[in-house]
Amino acid sequence: MKRVLSVASEAVPLVKTGGLADVVGALPEALAGQGWEMRVMLPAYRGVLDRLAATTVVWSDPDLFGGPAEVHLGKVGTMEVMALNAPHLYDRAGGPYSDLHGDFGDNAERFAALCWAAAAVAREGAEDWRPDVLHAHDWQGALAPAYLRYAGASLPSLITIHNMAFQGRVGADKMGALRLPREAFHRDGYEFWGDISTLKAGLTTADAITTVSPRYAEELMRGEYGQGLEGVIAARAGVVVGILNGIDDRVWNPETDPECISFSATNISGKSKNRKALQAEFQLEKKIDGPLVILVSRLTAQKGIDLLPPAVEELVARGGALALLGSGDSWAEDLVRGLAARFPGRVGVRIGYDESLSHRMFAGADAVLVPSRFEPCGLTQLYGLRYGCLPLVSAVGGLADTVIGASPASLAGQAATGVVFHPVDALALRQGMRQLCDLHADRRIWTAMMKRAMKSDLGWSRSAARYAALYERLLAQ
Ligand code: ADP
Repeated sequence: MKRVLSVASEAVPLVKTGGLADVVGALPEALAGQGWEMRVMLPAYRGVLDRLAATTVVWSDPDLFGGPAEVHLGKVGTMEVMALNAPHLYDRAGGPYSDLHGDFGDNAERFAALCWAAAAVAREGAEDWRPDVLHAHDWQGALAPAYLRYAGASLPSLITIHNMAFQGRVGADKMGALRLPREAFHRDGYEFWGDISTLKAGLTTADAITTVSPRYAEELMRGEYGQGLEGVIAARAGVVVGILNGIDDRVWNPETDPECISFSATNISGKSKNRKALQAEFQLEKKIDGPLVILVSRLTAQKGIDLLPPAVEELVARGGALALLGSGDSWAEDLVRGLAARFPGRVGVRIGYDESLSHRMFAGADAVLVPSRFEPCGLTQLYGLRYGCLPLVSAVGGLADTVIGASPASLAGQAATGVVFHPVDALALRQGMRQLCDLHADRRIWTAMMKRAMKSDLGWSRSAARYAALYERLLAQ
């Protein structure tokens, strides 16, 4: 088997704050079926090593950005993990990027260290394992291809953009601390408005760039949502490819999900029991005639949370209910708490992060709301499709690529799998909600859409084949 080293800050099941972790955690198994052995390098945050079976130390450095570091090779499930143990950087309370006081002040160094170790393993190998390709993810992994290139190494590399809004921007005074060469500090290198951007370092040095949906690649190349880096993408348009995320069938499958009563496209009877349980869990009224809609999301402006109130009024007026799980910006948390206070028994809100609850929500709900302003791929609409919880989404990025909006033509052609609204504003969202309620009121149409959604091909095999083909192409060059 050929070998690929994946470098990222999160991977399910070890650490997750968003979709990045789902993707990084699912790719190794998906690629194994394509003849590629993928190892995932990530920081050994507190507790990570305890969760790895049979670890051995395969690489070490007495001074990695201020302290000793070791790479522990181990396994979680079928995933081979190279956990970078550097206690001075990663052994702390809190999440991967922050604690109760906010973002860690040394995040740039923490992820530069990860990339430095990854580039070293890629170049020199770790014990007898050496990758043929390096695959970096987002700003946290972006310095890995850069360090390879700056060191003159020829190993092919690829960077995947999961979200261009996070760019790893820090002051130029960190150049030395991040071990970046001064000669690449210019507009065609890693310099960005006088600062350093680690994402830009990766985008300008990797041999190929992928985005997590074709539409997001087009949007970036048209200059939308690039937040200042769109020119870099446009300049490298020839090596940019959009590859949709899949979903991990081992984790997201209503037939085997331990969090719910099993159901499937051919036997959806379990769905109504899951719905009742969800109503109870969110203390919603017992009798909800309209759609039971969920939202599972980071609560930020990107996710369109400010657009919700008119659509929720519409939903409640039509006899529906909303169950919402999320955490994020305080204005957004206040806004959704306000909706719950306004519509007791019809709007239930949980502020927090709860993986198990999210499964029960997809299993029990009729529809999932994803009103993002931009969305590189989006996963919750895919989980919704899989669980017969029809997506109501804005027409952007991966949402537009994965949901077929109901229209006279798509309904007649038996293609519709959800509701798509455009433009991304509160009025259009409200209209989308109205359409969703109308569709829900027609049991025959709704059930047909549900079954169709549940049967859509959402697995990883097609996308894994595209990554594998891209690795092959890079190797051949
Ligand atoms: P992003 O990565 O931009 O946050 P995605 O839709 O790509 O958005 O992925 C979000 C992932 O995080 C999904 O797996 C979603 O179910 C999960 N998620 C988001 N917020 C929560 C939460 N509060 N509790 C549980 N899971 C959540």
